Order: sequence, then structure tokens, then C-alpha cells
Amino acid sequence: MKPQVLIAGAGPVGLTLAIEFARYGVPLRIVDKAPTRTDKSKAVAVWSRSLELFERAGIADELVAAGVKVQAAKISDGAETIAHIGFDGLDTRYSFVLMIPQSETERILEEELAKLGVTVERGVELKGFSDNGTSVEAFVARPDGSSETICANWLVGCDGAHSTVRHTLGKEFRGNSVATDFLLADIKLPGVIAHDELMMWWHRDGVVAFFPLPGDRMRLIASTGPSTNHAVEPTLAEVQAIIDSRGPGGLTATDPVWIARFKINERKVDDYRSGRVFVAGDAAHVHSPAGGQGMNTGMQDAFNLAWKLALVCDDVCADRLLDTYSVERSPVAAEVIASAGHLTRVAMMKNEYAQAIRNFVASHVLGLHAVQNVARETLSELSVAYPHSPLNGPHASGLGGPKPGHRLAPADTDPVSGREPKLAIFSDETPPDLVAEFPDLLEEKTRPSVQAGGIFLVRPDGYVAMTAKDGDWNAVRAYLHNFRRIGTA
Ligand SMILES: Cc1cc2nc3c(=O)[nH]c(=O)nc-3n(C[C@H](O)[C@H](O)[C@H](O)COP(=O)(O)OP(=O)(O)OC[C@H]3O[C@@H](n4cnc5c(N)ncnc54)[C@H](O)[C@@H]3O)c2cc1C
Repeated sequence: MKPQVLIAGAGPVGLTLAIEFARYGVPLRIVDKAPTRTDKSKAVAVWSRSLELFERAGIADELVAAGVKVQAAKISDGAETIAHIGFDGLDTRYSFVLMIPQSETERILEEELAKLGVTVERGVELKGFSDNGTSVEAFVARPDGSSETICANWLVGCDGAHSTVRHTLGKEFRGNSVATDFLLADIKLPGVIAHDELMMWWHRDGVVAFFPLPGDRMRLIASTGPSTNHAVEPTLAEVQAIIDSRGPGGLTATDPVWIARFKINERKVDDYRSGRVFVAGDAAHVHSPAGGQGMNTGMQDAFNLAWKLALVCDDVCADRLLDTYSVERSPVAAEVIASAGHLTRVAMMKNEYAQAIRNFVASHVLGLHAVQNVARETLSELSVAYPHSPLNGPHASGLGGPKPGHRLAPADTDPVSGREPKLAIFSDETPPDLVAEFPDLLEEKTRPSVQAGGIFLVRPDGYVAMTAKDGDWNAVRAYLHNFRRIGTA
């Protein structure tokens, strides 16, 4: 069967997208130029919002079981605590950050995809493509040296920071590189470091961060200065020297499985769409790993695009709906680039006086309850919202609860987990014949209202589309007519 969608790249973002399409019954192919999955831990944090979205696909429990739940982040100067931010109390079933190596995340996603009947075609490299306005012809090289032209209706480039799709589209990857080098190491570090906290040391010589991993392992990330010789392989001795000079002492790193140098780039494309071609994940945006938001932001690109493209593939909406993908997701990446960059620069301050002021201010400001709330909502990505989305309908005046464009916290007892890309009604009344009028747009089941006196119409990705006062079904009907029209020429 001709695939509706071709996904280039089976990293965490391509796999997430493929699972969503497979769940929605959209025929797809997914190719990756690498012969095998990564065995590197790379991105180690899966935040609350990503877990909520994976819950819909039935994968959250498996991810959680394979990782380590971390309840807090602590900033210290190596000896004294500057700030301590707890993640408990977040309004979610997942009030923690899950630490899990990217290799494990990808394994779980790829196995889930296989259960849905889709196999990643490995060793298959996208070399180029042409978009003729009604379909995309993609040129791939196969592992045996042969080539193939894959014809699909849509192409999504989830092919990472050096994306062939982005290059072929000629999209500018606007931004800059941070002028400091970094080192990462996967090690064991028995001693005083807690395994249920993220730990960051702001030392006068540079920053070091520790992220607990399953199996008593630790990910270390440290700044190493502006002019590290990348030809010189980093060693455990170099890692130990950083721990000794910047930490409290008495810590010995052992059992390294991966030590590497890296540079931080802060870049994004302006528009994630070009005709029948999209970019998602690192292909669209890269930034500092501070805050561990990179992979999460990419996965949430996938959740956003999947239901829209599924509705278009099913001919429920035409392709103007797809323009809202970039409109909604591009500002999210811009915000992550700005906040992760800010955190990185604050952590790397060199001047001794500036450092003293930073530590003093941080210990006071980050001690404030309100600031801690903003920090944990931002890190967990529960605060991601689309307040200016063209998909937002009206909000009933005086009604509490989330407004259009904002996340609806999944209820404890009734997660939305539909296998169709449909909107859900949350209301204490039964809608008069609405489901029969919009069978391709509305879930059959009406869920209990999240706020007494109100109707909430919720998108397949868990964001509120519109609200109305009880009984005002005409407002819901008008929204659904409009929603359909978004896609019509
Ligand atoms: C050394 C390192 C450390 C990192 N540490 C962190 C961290 O601590 N926290 C964090 O949030 N993020 C971190 N990241 C970034 C994180 O790994 C990425 O944000 C995440 O992997 C993005 O996922 P993706 O699926 O968009 O891209 P990728 O994971 O890069 O996957 C892209 C896939 O596309 C395939 N591909 C590429 N070109 C083609 C082609 N032409 N045809 C077919 N397939 C192709 C590749 O083989 C790859 O499998 C790190 C990255 C690296 C490299």
C-alpha cells in the first residue's frame, strides 16, 4: 500500500510520531540510515507532560518502570545548597522527572511500534526528495547499495540536528553556538550524591550537573572552557579531576560506559512546514541540554502534528489545519531555547563578583514558593500552552478551569486514550445529537465535566479547544463547523 506518510529518522521523535500514526491507522513507512538503534544514553530526562501524552498510547507505565523517578533538583556551590526545587505537588499523575537513557526510551518505543505492526527500515538513508504539490517522491539508499523512490502523500523529517530534510528544503537553521565546550560522562559515583535528585554545582571554574540513571549510574555534564581540543579523547581522569576540583570531595567516579565532548548549538527554523514536508524534533530546533527539554520538546512536536495529519489523511479536514502545527510549536521551541540558554549562561558565569551576586539572588528568588512553582511547571512542560492558536475557540465568561489552548490535566480515573484523532466532550449533560452530526470529529463517549457548569471540548492532544456554559451546545456546534472549515479551501 502507498504510505500516506514517510518518516525520515527513527530517533525518539520519529518513533513517537510513527506510534501516533499507527494508533490512528494512518499507513506509514519509517526509515533510518543507522543500521541499529543508538546504544548511547544521550537525552536522559522524560518530563511529566511527555509521560501524560505517552499514557494515551499506553506506554507511560513501561517507560516509568524502566527509569528512575527523581523528585527534586538541587543547585549548590559544591558545598552549600543554593536552591532546592521539588517536583512533588505538580498537578499530574507524574509529579517527578523520569530519568531513563535515550537508548532505553527508543527500545520501548520501537517495541511498541512493532506491536502496532510497523517495522523501522534500518540502514535506509533519505538522500533527497521532490514535492510535486500532490505527493512527495523520496529517494532512499538501501543497505545493499540499491536505491528506491518512495512515493508518499507527506514527508516528515525527524532526522536530527543535521537533517537532510531541512537542508533539502533550504531552511535556515537560525541561531548561534555557545562558546564553551562541554563534557559528558556516564559513570558510577558512589558517595554523597543522592540518587533521587538532579544535582547542579555552580563552581567558580564552571558548572557540573549530575543526573541519576537506572542501575546506580550517573550522567555527568560539565563545562570545560572555550578552547578544548576535540581531537583529544576525554578520559575518566579528566572527569575525576573536574569532580575533585568543583565538588565537596570524597567522590570517586568508576565504570565509565560513555565519555564524550560536545558543543551547544541554539538554533531553530522559522517554519516547520513547507508544502507536503514537515520537520520535527532536532531537525527543527536544537538547544542547551540544561533543563533536559530537547527530546521532550521534539516528542511533543510529534504529538501535535500526528492528530492533525491523521485528520487530513482521513479527509476530515483539508491541509490548512496543518499550518497550525508550526504556529503552535515554533514558539514553544523559541521559549525553550531562551530559557535553557539563560540557565546555561547563569550557570557558567565566570566573574567571581557576578557569581557571588548570582548565588545570593538565586538562593533568595528560588526559595520563593511562586518562583518554584513556575520553575517546576516550566521544566515539567505542564505549562506548555497555545494561547494564541488559531484553533482556540471561545471561552465561557466566568467559567473556571483551563482556557482554550491550555492543557487539561488528565483525570485520575478516565484518561483520554482514543485510537481515533477525535475531540472529546467533557460535560455533565449529554450533547443533543452532536456526535451524530460530527461522527468523524467527536468521540462517542461524553466525559464528566472538569468544572461544574461548563462544557469543555478537548483536542486529541489534551489541550482545550473551546469552552461553553452548560446547555450552550450551539456554541460547540458553531466551533465544530468552524473547525471543519479550517481545512477547507
Ligand atoms: C552526545 C549527546 C548528548 C545529549 N544529551 C542530552 C541531554 O542530556 N538532554 C537532552 O534533552 N537532550 C540531549 N541530547 C539531545 C537529544 O539526544 C535530542 O534532542 C534527541 O535525540 C532528538 O531526537 P530526534 O528524534 O529529533 O533526533 P535524533 O535522536 O538525532 O534522531 C534522528 C534519527 O534520524 C536518523 N537520520 C539522520 N539522517 C537521516 C537520513 N538522511 N535518512 C534516514 N535517517 C536519518 C538518525 O540515524 C537518527 O536515528 C543529546 C544529544 C547528543 C548527541
